[in-house]
Amino acid sequence: MPRATVARIDLAAIRHNFGLARQFAGGARAMAVIKADAYGHGIARVARTLAPDATCFAVACIEEALAIRDAGLAHPVVLLQGVHAAGDMATCAAQNFEPVLHSGYQLDWLAAQAAGPAFWIKVNTGMNRLGFRPAELSRVMAVLAGRKSAFLGFVTHFAASDEMDNDATRQQTAVFADAVAPWPDAELSVANSAAHFRDGQPLFTRSRPGIMLYGASPMAERNGSDLGLQPAMSLESNLIAVRTLAAGDAVGYGAAWRAERETPMGIVAIGYADGYPRHAGNGTPVWVKGHRAALIGRVSMDMLAVDLSAVPDAREGDPVELWGRNVSVDEVARCAGTISYELLTGVTARVPRLYH
Ligand code: PLP
Repeated sequence: MPRATVARIDLAAIRHNFGLARQFAGGARAMAVIKADAYGHGIARVARTLAPDATCFAVACIEEALAIRDAGLAHPVVLLQGVHAAGDMATCAAQNFEPVLHSGYQLDWLAAQAAGPAFWIKVNTGMNRLGFRPAELSRVMAVLAGRKSAFLGFVTHFAASDEMDNDATRQQTAVFADAVAPWPDAELSVANSAAHFRDGQPLFTRSRPGIMLYGASPMAERNGSDLGLQPAMSLESNLIAVRTLAAGDAVGYGAAWRAERETPMGIVAIGYADGYPRHAGNGTPVWVKGHRAALIGRVSMDMLAVDLSAVPDAREGDPVELWGRNVSVDEVARCAGTISYELLTGVTARVPRLYH
């Protein structure tokens, strides 16, 4: 019998979440962000699910874009990091990939092509990772004028759009609008998931929803369900051992949790080698057989322990949900001192993805 540890992917939930993103985006057309294997959900299946409604897809690198072609889809694919090698410009042109150019060397690579790909220009409005500063745009656009490649538009990325009280997003938006004003025909793209939920935030002509497609919240203090999103991944396993601990017994490596009284305890067949976070602390919720139980002790490579006091009649083989509809991935992320993005993209290849 195979191990019961699986990630069930609900494609209807992804469709629902994309519908919500498009609704929020109003007139902006959505680029569905499916990088990092669609945030761990499987790029081919997610791309095919969204294909009827998506204008285009966005990924980090050319390998991910080629995976979309391998899935049989011809949509334009935006490469959010541009290209990593000069030769990739020709691939972009041949495959209808749209690199986001962010540095001088990428302009040189484009200039060296007789007929390059359609492309975007990244504007650094304050994130200070990638992009040209607003003052550089006239020079950049002058260099590109007369090239055979088609200029599509400008992109910027927000540093703190998930923090509702932080004024940085308003400032970055103003810097962006000002910087791109001389090119009124350009497409404009700023909106990650969090931007969709900010009152009064302009989303310009192209939105870029990522994490919200998978039903998780872009804001640390909210759960996806608070925002009307449906969780797309249910990470599941089962109890492979049920024991009763005596008062004073410790559990797992480092004896990091000790029973104060006699305690029913279950071992679940999932660990950090599956992508469950090792830093999830004591008390992290785990859904066992329809009840909320609490993680106890340190997460091991292939298993973890739960206090079954709140679970009547727990038995070996009983089903466990680590995150999904009953325990939100946002909540587990908070308990592990991280974000849902890291948990979803971190589910390893050992965990089969099952689609419904
Ligand atoms: N745009 C860019 C440039 C990104 O790097 C990302 C993700 O990191 C996104 C959009 C989507 O962001 P989110 O997943 O927060 O919606």
